[in-house]
Amino acid sequence: MNSEFDVELIDIAPTIANILKITMPEPTGKINSALSNYAQKNKVKKVLVVIVDSLGYSLYNHLEHNMPTLSCLASKGFFYKCKSPATTTTPSIASILTGYYPSEHQINFTKDIIIERKKTLSSLKTKSILEWGHQSGIASSLIIEAEGAKAMEGLIDNAIGIPDSKDILEFDAMTKKLSIKEILRGTTLIVLHLRSIDRYAHRSNTWIDIIKAGKSIDTNVHDLLKHLDSNTLIFICGDHTIHSAEKWLINATENEKTSHIQNNVALIVCSTDEFLNKG
Ligand SMILES: [Zn+2]
Repeated sequence: MNSEFDVELIDIAPTIANILKITMPEPTGKINSALSNYAQKNKVKKVLVVIVDSLGYSLYNHLEHNMPTLSCLASKGFFYKCKSPATTTTPSIASILTGYYPSEHQINFTKDIIIERKKTLSSLKTKSILEWGHQSGIASSLIIEAEGAKAMEGLIDNAIGIPDSKDILEFDAMTKKLSIKEILRGTTLIVLHLRSIDRYAHRSNTWIDIIKAGKSIDTNVHDLLKHLDSNTLIFICGDHTIHSAEKWLINATENEKTSHIQNNVALIVCSTDEFLNKG
């Protein structure tokens, strides 16, 4: 299903809250009723969110034939052109997890998670869906780079930090491995962050590396899917469009350039049942 109507990254948290019946004050993001109805139809009990760093909308379309698992999820479920509110990772992930714009949650660097929380105890715009879930008795885990995990320690069931690695494919593989452990523990809401495309976007000059990163992300998602329970809803989204764009947009079409400037990312949503059914 290719859905073109307005969807934003800030809609993810309230939509998950609606699906998993997590109590959370209504944020700026809106509940996506198509996804909410779909989840109800598929009797969704668990949610897995895979944040794929730098998976822009046009980049996904460009890489799709190298990503058979994501492509299959997109064709059996929903594929959105989704607005990201930030061009860097931390504020964007904070928006995905809180349902607020960066101007509202004020989390621009990881250290802000702690600073802003102290400042704004009364305003709850820094609080993530994982914490609201945890408070509603829903087991919630985050698997993310070590500093980010440290900031969430004690606030959710399990904040699992991945030490930075020179080999970003190894980093993503470790993230996958520890995420599978969380899946096998029966955790209801799991969020993880795969970073290889972003690393290569900064450090490489060749599409071969971006494609290699895309393929490895697809393999990681494939491996996660093998362990997921039925009745799980999977969200796969970018956080922002690709960095060092001057290298990557040289042969881009006008549409691709526009999508990059608009900071549109890919959002794929599918239930495990729909993924396994219908061949
Ligand atoms: Zn990023």
